[in-house]
Amino acid sequence: MTKHVLVLAEHQNGNLKQVTYEAIEAARLSTQSEGDVSIHLAVVGHELQEVTEQLKNSGAATIYSVDHEDCKHYNPEVYAAVMMELIEKAGADGVVFGHTTIGRDLAPLIAAKLDAGHISDVIAIEQSVDQVSFTRPIYAGKAFEQKTFRSTPWVLTIRPNNIPAAVGSDVESTIVEVEYNQPSTLRTVIKDVVQKSTGKIDLAEAKVVIAGGRGVKSSDGFKPLEELAEVLGGAVGASRGACDADYCDYALQIGQTGKVVTPEVYIACGISGAIQHVAGMSQSRLIIAINKDPEAPIFKIADYGIVGDLFEVVPLLTEEFRTVLS
Ligand code: FAD
Repeated sequence: MTKHVLVLAEHQNGNLKQVTYEAIEAARLSTQSEGDVSIHLAVVGHELQEVTEQLKNSGAATIYSVDHEDCKHYNPEVYAAVMMELIEKAGADGVVFGHTTIGRDLAPLIAAKLDAGHISDVIAIEQSVDQVSFTRPIYAGKAFEQKTFRSTPWVLTIRPNNIPAAVGSDVESTIVEVEYNQPSTLRTVIKDVVQKSTGKIDLAEAKVVIAGGRGVKSSDGFKPLEELAEVLGGAVGASRGACDADYCDYALQIGQTGKVVTPEVYIACGISGAIQHVAGMSQSRLIIAINKDPEAPIFKIADYGIVGDLFEVVPLLTEEFRTVLS
């Protein structure tokens, strides 16, 4: 019997987020052992032509497009109502979101509305003969647990940069334009969203993250990190210590109460390595720490450690990478 999975396609300024392709692959892996899978995409927003065009060959059977001014900015009440309608239309056995700001907010809401099982922050999906299991970090990344769903429908969020992206298909998806119905109980309206983060690359999806801590000492202290990020095509992040000291915006905070990142390379500059920070970056593929204190806890989880002054080391790395990469 064919299983149906609905995926929320996340996009910003007309561009799809990479996690959308990873969520499509997650949808396929989550049900593959049970027979045929039919993947459907929910594209919600305003002026969506560009976005739906990009998704036509993503491997989804259907693209449900809900295009309305009310959907321009994420509003949980609006998006939950739209998703519930699309779940019904798709006959979805499962729903997949990225473990992003939107997914983290919306997935539990949808799970509660559906009375469904919910597994969040999944970093790996494994199939055995009779079941699919989902791995997620617990205790701030110090341990992992494997979970399975016992019933349908189910709701999943996947951490960006962990599940491989879907490869796509020659077969074009059917685009279904669904009329937006404003929920009768709508209590809040988003008037405008003011973007604070200046970074060009989304921190949560960046392949390279250069993070600064209290050791950068001032907002100007972030400049060498920004230069290194530019050369490596990465994003700049921060510890809460740096945010609390007003060296940078909280939008850059990585950790338990900030963003969770899983880049290929994480360079921690002047960060001590408190457990709350490590919770947001310990799953990075390669961790490089620069700290002048050889006893700093960050060195315990680093693959490479450089004991030194970040204001000397970071510019040297930038020059070296600039030469190698040019
Ligand atoms: P510090 O601990 O002060 O470390 C600064 C480091 O810089 C030191 O190791 C020092 O040796 C080094 N240094 C100084 N100068 C130089 C130099 N010139 N060159 C090289 N190295 C230098 N923190 C987070 O990051 N993210 C979170 O999400 C988060 N959530 C929290 C939630 C709760 C409930 C609580 C209680 C705390 C949370 N924290 C979080 C705070 C966390 O406990 C730490 O206080 C914080 O991570 C410390 O930031 P830091 O490493 O930048 O600063």
